[in-house]
Amino acid sequence: MDNNLQDIIVKTVVDILKQKDDSNGIKVGVSARHVHLSQKDLETLFGEGHKLTVKKILMGDQFAAEECVTLVSPSLRTIEGVRVLGPVRKESQVEVSRTDTFKLKVSPPVRPSGELKGSAPMALVGPKGSVFLNECCIIANRHIHMTPSDAERYGIKDNDIVDVEIQNSKPTRFYNVQVRVREDFNTEMHIDTDDANACAIKTGDRVVILEK
Ligand SMILES: [Zn+2]
Repeated sequence: MDNNLQDIIVKTVVDILKQKDDSNGIKVGVSARHVHLSQKDLETLFGEGHKLTVKKILMGDQFAAEECVTLVSPSLRTIEGVRVLGPVRKESQVEVSRTDTFKLKVSPPVRPSGELKGSAPMALVGPKGSVFLNECCIIANRHIHMTPSDAERYGIKDNDIVDVEIQNSKPTRFYNVQVRVREDFNTEMHIDTDDANACAIKTGDRVVILEK
């Protein structure tokens, strides 16, 4: 066979395989509003020595708990039945969508999880008590959790920023998506319900990381 033709065929096959690999993409998980609690706040809300009950394993040691709380904003707007995610953390954190912020009349910043300085205040009410937290409420940024082996495959390191695209009935590109790499993560992109609803995305859909 002509060498030139052989090169073209090989290149085409490689491109097709790459496309196939890319079309597989990264699984999306849609995050509904939720709270993370410190052990101290957990005990204030649910009673002394309380331990969270696992409802559903999410990834690694992360789980959705049976426990729910009510959010009460400083202007006394409320959202009931907000799921607690475990395990307990050093600091309590409330993650809501922008749509929720209109109901609650608060203006939290868009932040990576754990960056609470300058975030919005919120009171949490449980069956045994309540806490008022001066800085706890954020709109979570769009982020991708990634296993170290996938990160190596993509040539990505912890805290890199990527752009992703979804091809569906409402094709969309998300820019400046934070990637977090950790051994106990699954490779999964997390967006909130506003992003998901606006772009017709549901849990299990797949996005593709765009080449820089
Ligand atoms: Zn996440």
